[in-house]
Amino acid sequence: MEQKSKIISIEHITHDVLHLVAEKPAGLIYEPGQAVDISINKPGWEKELRAFTFTSLPEDRLIEFTIKTYPSRKGVTNQLLSMKKGDELIVGGVFGDIHYKGEGIFIAGGAGITPFLAILKKLEKENKIGNNKLIFANKTKADIIHEEKFRKMLGRNFINVLSDETVEGYEHGFISEALIRKHLADQSVFFYLCGPPPMMDAVEKHFAVLGIQKDHIIKEGF
Ligand SMILES: Cc1cc2nc3c(=O)[nH]c(=O)nc-3n(C[C@H](O)[C@H](O)[C@H](O)COP(=O)(O)OP(=O)(O)OC[C@H]3O[C@@H](n4cnc5c(N)ncnc54)[C@H](O)[C@@H]3O)c2cc1C
Repeated sequence: MEQKSKIISIEHITHDVLHLVAEKPAGLIYEPGQAVDISINKPGWEKELRAFTFTSLPEDRLIEFTIKTYPSRKGVTNQLLSMKKGDELIVGGVFGDIHYKGEGIFIAGGAGITPFLAILKKLEKENKIGNNKLIFANKTKADIIHEEKFRKMLGRNFINVLSDETVEGYEHGFISEALIRKHLADQSVFFYLCGPPPMMDAVEKHFAVLGIQKDHIIKEGF
């Protein structure tokens, strides 16, 4: 069912990522990690559905999204760059394969952090962060979404990997089998994976080499 939702606020949180807060449509139900089809209620854009993950919590009064923008594609995320308070979204069906099953390693690439942001926020609220780890791959330090928030939440269990920049204290390159192995305490933990398809393919190959059981992998491609 489609419902209209007015934007309450929209602002940059990194050079290319927006934090969007909107009214919560009546009766909307979702789990941390789930996404929803969104379009923009402007002539010509109503049918352009794109998936975005809730980064608010189900019990919150408003809904929030964390959206990486691609101006060069001239698509929906580029349109969002010119939207303001009071403009309307069309909120469609909720879906998504990522749910929290238990403690483990979260591996995210770029905007693939969004389902884990929701799950980790929920765990933090319930004092259940435990020994969960986050390996977050980005091109540069400036691309890291909510770096301080995750550092505060996870401390030494927050590992950043930068492919296009060398920074002291940050891993350099792509996520490797050796890096996953280094942070692997116990093979029975769960592995949560979300990011662009090439990154997902590479990490899944590492999982295979490490002998990680398929039913311990929870994933979604962006
Ligand atoms: C379940 C799910 C949840 C998601 N949650 C989030 C989220 O919370 N936050 C978030 O930021 N993203 C999320 N995404 C990704 C998000 O849906 C896309 O980034 C978004 O749809 C991009 O929309 P767009 O219209 O700006 O660009 P697109 O629809 O990707 O592109 C518009 C046009 O640009 C061209 N194009 C496409 N790809 C490229 C390319 N690589 N280079 C050049 N041109 C290209 C094509 O002609 C395309 O039709 C999620 C995806 C899924 C599947």
